[in-house]
Amino acid sequence: MLGIHFLCVIFEIVQPAKNNLIIFPFIYILIYNYYTMEQLEYAGENRTELSSLGEFALINRIAERFKPNNKSTVKGIGDDCAVIGTGKQKVLVSTNTMSEGVQFDMMYTPLKHLGYKAVARSLSNIAAMNGVPLQVLVSMAVSNRYSVEAIEELYEGIYRCCERYDVDLVGGDTTTSLSGLVITVTAVGTADEDKVVYRSGAKQYDLICCSGDLGSAYSGLLVLEREKVTYQADPSFQPDLDGYDYVLERFLKPEPRFDIIAELRKKEIVPTSMIDVSDGLASELLHICKESSCGCEVYEDRIPIDYQTTRVCSEMSNNMLPVSNALNGGEDYELLFTISQNDYEKVKTIEGVHVIGHITDQASGAKLVTPQNTAIKLVAQGWPSDSNENK
Ligand code: ADP
Ligand code: MG
Repeated sequence: MLGIHFLCVIFEIVQPAKNNLIIFPFIYILIYNYYTMEQLEYAGENRTELSSLGEFALINRIAERFKPNNKSTVKGIGDDCAVIGTGKQKVLVSTNTMSEGVQFDMMYTPLKHLGYKAVARSLSNIAAMNGVPLQVLVSMAVSNRYSVEAIEELYEGIYRCCERYDVDLVGGDTTTSLSGLVITVTAVGTADEDKVVYRSGAKQYDLICCSGDLGSAYSGLLVLEREKVTYQADPSFQPDLDGYDYVLERFLKPEPRFDIIAELRKKEIVPTSMIDVSDGLASELLHICKESSCGCEVYEDRIPIDYQTTRVCSEMSNNMLPVSNALNGGEDYELLFTISQNDYEKVKTIEGVHVIGHITDQASGAKLVTPQNTAIKLVAQGWPSDSNENK
């Protein structure tokens, strides 16, 4: 075994002279694969399951090793975007991946919508930093199951979203995948140094606000999954999606809330902290509390929930609660932010913004207050962050 590891190390060292390896491609592939599989499936005593660690703990572990060294790295890992630059105007960068079978299911995802959503969810991170979106780069790994026409359809959606938010597609990468489609969108934006809003600025007594309504994207996914199961049992079945248009659109074609950012700007409100709701309200509140070293109290009956979400929940067999969809569903891409109490009069005039609670001290923890006035500790469902897999 040691010998094989040694050989592979040698191969890696001679990489600059890669052509040499062409002489032994077969041996190289065999040995390298063996080496790689050994690493991936490491089954020694100290093996740690990814699922036992969780997404956020894994990211923290990575972040510990990569403390920023460059003066121009203002914020590295840990917020919706990295913040870069030495001047007054900062560059915001965020990258997001969608993988077939995990973040999307080709049985019910129109390619145009997929392209639109891939860009929208990346731009949403620019909004979450109070930024202006400028460019995107799109990378894809695509299998030969997809035709040129299919990829053109995907890019039609990408084009529509870029057009809508006045963003340029400036590059990317294209490669082959053995199965399915993986699409990564990197978004670039800008914001003045003193207008960048981090997850870390919330202060005790600040008000917690969110835009739109929560839980509707997950409700849309539930409907699509239900119809898929029925269709698979009986392919002659025609999916009936009437009356679910709002929740379906919320899942298939979300919008980054730059309209809310524009309203906040117009009213001269700079939130004290902000995050976009990609993983569910509970998870995002916990991020703000952790990064701002504070606690929070959110009132269950203040959480905005659309009637279609309530309807979907009532139709599900397991007595699903609409508030659970809001807390744990994710993919809503609404904005969750905190403001100083002084801004309350201004914020309440913005249509579609709801005050749902307030920031408390760290020792009090993060709490959901029920209509019966019982405080429940908030927990995040975490891993994996989005998609069908955690539902
Ligand atoms: P969001 O939900 O806003 O997209 P994530 O939870 O995906 O944010 O990521 C949180 C932070 O961790 C971000 O700063 C992101 O850039 C960083 N991050 C996520 N995955 C990795 C990774 N594999 N390597 C380095 N940084 C990562
Ligand atoms: Mg985000």
